[in-house]
Order: sequence, then C-alpha cells, then structure tokens
Amino acid sequence: MPIKGTDIVKKLPEGGKKNCKECGFPTCFAFAMKLASAGTTLDKCLYLSFEVKTELEDALAPAIKLVTIGSGKAALQIGNEEVMYRHDKTFIHQPGIALLISDKESESKIEEKVKRIKELQFERVGLTLRANLLALHFESGDRDRFAALVKRVYRDTDLGMILISEDMESLFLARDLCADRKPLLYPITKENIEKAIPRIKKSPTPIGVRAGSIEELIPMTSRLKEEKIDEVVLDPGSKGLMEGIRDQTFMRRAAIKQNFRPLGYPTISFSCFVAKDGLRELLTAAAFTIKYAGIIVLSDMDKYSLLPLLVQRLNIYTDPRMPMAVEQKVYQIGEPNEESPVLITSNWALTYFIVSSEIESSKVPSFLCVKDTEGLGVLTGWAAGKFVADAIAPFIKKSGIADRVKNRTLVIPGKVARIRGELEEALPDWKIIVGPREASEIPAFLPAFAAKLKTG
Ligand code: SF4
Repeated sequence: MPIKGTDIVKKLPEGGKKNCKECGFPTCFAFAMKLASAGTTLDKCLYLSFEVKTELEDALAPAIKLVTIGSGKAALQIGNEEVMYRHDKTFIHQPGIALLISDKESESKIEEKVKRIKELQFERVGLTLRANLLALHFESGDRDRFAALVKRVYRDTDLGMILISEDMESLFLARDLCADRKPLLYPITKENIEKAIPRIKKSPTPIGVRAGSIEELIPMTSRLKEEKIDEVVLDPGSKGLMEGIRDQTFMRRAAIKQNFRPLGYPTISFSCFVAKDGLRELLTAAAFTIKYAGIIVLSDMDKYSLLPLLVQRLNIYTDPRMPMAVEQKVYQIGEPNEESPVLITSNWALTYFIVSSEIESSKVPSFLCVKDTEGLGVLTGWAAGKFVADAIAPFIKKSGIADRVKNRTLVIPGKVARIRGELEEALPDWKIIVGPREASEIPAFLPAFAAKLKTG
C-alpha cells in the first residue's frame, strides 16, 4: 500500500507544522498530499533529516521496481506496476518477449533467428508490435563461442539482451562485451551471489535472480538491497504452468497488497523450458502475459505464434479508462494521387483500423482524414459534439488535403449523413458525399466512386 499524505505529514519538520513555504507549497500538509500523489519530489524540502528522507524514499518507491534492460530506442522497461487487476486501474509496462538462442545452435540457425526477430514486426492501430529481447544461452561449454554469439548479436541488432550462463566467468566476460547495452545477467543464485556482488557493482547492469522457491528469493533480494543493487528481476524457479501462475500471483500480491519489498521486482518466466511443445509453449506465454510476468522467453517464434501473443499483450496493457486512439492527421492508404478519393472518419483506433483495412481491400488508393474525437467512434463522437461540422471543417482546412487533390469531394460516414448540410456550409469549396453506413460496404462503394471522380 502506498503511504498516505496524512502519514507523510507527521514525518515532516516540526511534525508537519513548520510551514515555511520554501518547497513552493503553502503548508507542509499541502506538500505531503502532493508527494503522496507523486506530484512533487522529496528534495523540494531541505529540512528533512537523512533518516526521514531515506524512510520516505523507501515508502514512496513503487511497489514493483522499474527495471530497464537494453539501451536507446530498443530499451525495455518492466515493473512499476500498481494493481493486481487491469480493471482496478491499468497495467503499465508490457512484458518483454524474448527469443532464446543457444550457442550450441548451428551458425545458419543463429543467423536465421536473428534475422527473424528483426523482421517480425507488425503494424497495428498505429503501433509497431515486435518482440523485444534476445536471450543468449551458454550451453556449448566453449567460452569463445558464447562470446562470439554475444558480439554478433551486439553488432547485428539494437535489441536488449539476456545473458544466460551457469558459468560465472563466462557470464561476466559476456557482460563486459556489451555492458553499454545494459544486458540482464542470469542467473544469480544463492550459490554464486556473494562472488557475483562485487562484479555486478563494478559495472551495474540488471540481474536475474533464480531460486528454487519464492521463500529462497527473499534473503537473496534482501542481501542485494544491502549492497544497493536494485535492478533485479525474479525467477522463483516454477516448474510448470500451474506452479508458475501460482508463484507469479503470490509475488504480485505480496508486492502490491502487502508492500513486501523483497518481492517488489518484475519477474522472468521461461515458457521455453516450462512447456513441452510449441503450442503449449505459446499457451504458457499467453498465460504469463496475463499473470504478471515481466519477461517471457520463447524457444522460437514465427508470425503465426508471435502476432497473437503481441496482440494479446497490447490488449492487456492498454488503459481500460482511455479509448485507444490514433493520431489526428491525413493517412495515405496505398499511394494516392490528386485524383484519389478523400474519406473522413473518427480516431477511435478500432474505427481507424477497420476503415483503413476496408479501403485497402477495395484496392483504391485513398486519403483517409482521421479527426480527433478523443478516441470515440463516429456516432458517439457526433453525439459528443466532436464529429460535427464545426469540428471537422477547421481540421480539413488545416490538414492541407485541399492542395493534394483536384476533386474536392469529401466522403463522410453514412451514420452521420445528417451533418452533410452543415458541412457543406462550413466547407463551401468541398462537395460532401454520404458514404456507406458500415465500413464493410466500402469495398463495394469505393471503386465505382473513384471511377466517377476521374470522369468528373
Ligand atoms: S519546505 Fe519542508 S518544512 Fe517547509 S513547508 Fe515545505 S515541507 Fe514544510
């Protein structure tokens, strides 16, 4: 449970009665309330003792630590979650999906896997969906071979890496080859933790802690905390799907509901080792996507297995309080020219996705103007006053679409046929046509309409 403002204020100078205003707030109480809602930071008050500051920093830290793996645009952030159930608020950071590569695999297989993870990218509702990490597994017993694999992935991709090795020497040698990419080192165990600590501190990078059970994790994360190592990912060593779901749920509950700090870290799950075949592996990954994993490692992936998983992840990690929306702008479907049709719709992601897909199916290159309705569909947007002539006309005028087409003819959705008259008044240079009511009718409507436009 996050600390409340009323509890924070008691710890402020003079029991919260100093009220010197130097933090920019009129009272200590106002500062405390803002602090509790993450609207300000502790350093604004210069009168906190070291002990109080440390205590409040700890109390205000997120229940599940934010951990970053990788660097630059491909960096993956996991953790920082606040709720047990998506409908309580929202899940925040999508789990990273990793592809496992063993250094025992053949050169051609490794090359093919690296190529595949780079190529498997999908456009959906204006977003690019892809896997995030490569998990490099030292199995060959040949340190040079493992180092060569790490160097190759470092050179050929910008992806974050998980370095997996039971051999500590090899693990840290590999870390040194790609330390600037912030790889996750796995596994840190109760057997190697003491020897690993000074080496981790020498060049800090996230670590994956593996234990035989949740109970075993607790002294290990406590020990790491003493050493101020907190970029930690947990693996309770679950042996199967049911055990995995139980462990993930227990750890999430302990962190979120009990604010139990030793388990307040994101987790990693190895679907690749838990499941026995491709389909079960995928089902396991789907379950761990819902049940709290921070990283899911797969032994292989193709477009048929990866796309459903990525879409499921997207759906689970969208904010249920906010309709998914795409950017307001003029989208090109195909390669339209000055004779192409111009259509308009609302910016609810689902509407955009369906309408643009149907235009694509019609094989008529077109301009699709997408009006910001704050993520509402066409009819709801109209009812809310966001998809009406007064809102559409300024958008069309500013969008520059008038300079890109000869026939200034705008197709509006059939469901809002009633705005035609007002829109003709608001856009006197444009002819307004009422299009199909349903997006599914677009492929039948658009080719004949486009032909008519050409002939004038
Ligand atoms: S600076 Fe500190 S003591 Fe002064 S009002 Fe703000 S919280 Fe209170």
